[in-house]
Amino acid sequence: MITIDNLQFEIFIPEAEVKQTVKKIAAKINRDYEGKCPVLVAILNGSFVFAADLVRELTIEHEIHFAKVASYAGTESTGVVKNLLGVDIPLKGRDVIIVEDIVDTGITMSHLLDSFMAQAVKSVEVCSLIVKPEKLKVKLDLKYCGMEIPDAFILGYGLDYNNKGRQYRDIYKVINH
Ligand code: 5GP
Repeated sequence: MITIDNLQFEIFIPEAEVKQTVKKIAAKINRDYEGKCPVLVAILNGSFVFAADLVRELTIEHEIHFAKVASYAGTESTGVVKNLLGVDIPLKGRDVIIVEDIVDTGITMSHLLDSFMAQAVKSVEVCSLIVKPEKLKVKLDLKYCGMEIPDAFILGYGLDYNNKGRQYRDIYKVINH
């Protein structure tokens, strides 16, 4: 068990399971994008660990870039998405894969999909390590989704609580919140 600020967390998804999931997602992307060169856009901050592991499992040619948005305060989504940093290459005509750590309400992803589609990309797909299906408020096609979890606040493997706890290799979930 770990404590961060006022909250306690217990192990939820062990590192080995996370690694297996990343490998499976990468294998699917390797198959689907064979002969292509997709642009992966990893959404900061939370996806940096997932993105690093994912690209090292890719055998296809690809590029990775980063964008930054924010919609969370503490343990709750605010529903308002702020663009903090955009991709600095032209995306017109490119195959884009949005790489996210977790889809909760889906509001962030829906905002990102709209903004990439507005750039006349050739295709855009979502790759999220984790999704909380019960919490989804918008309809999303999550082509590459690693695992589904019930409604719980989690951290580790890049995910934070109050900007802390991103370094843990296992994924933890909050106790009694
Ligand atoms: P959404 O817009 O889908 O509600 O929220 C997406 C973003 O909220 C994710 O990219 C992530 O940064 C944050 N988020 C959602 N659920 C969790 C969670 O359980 N733990 C942490 N640390 N962040 C979360």
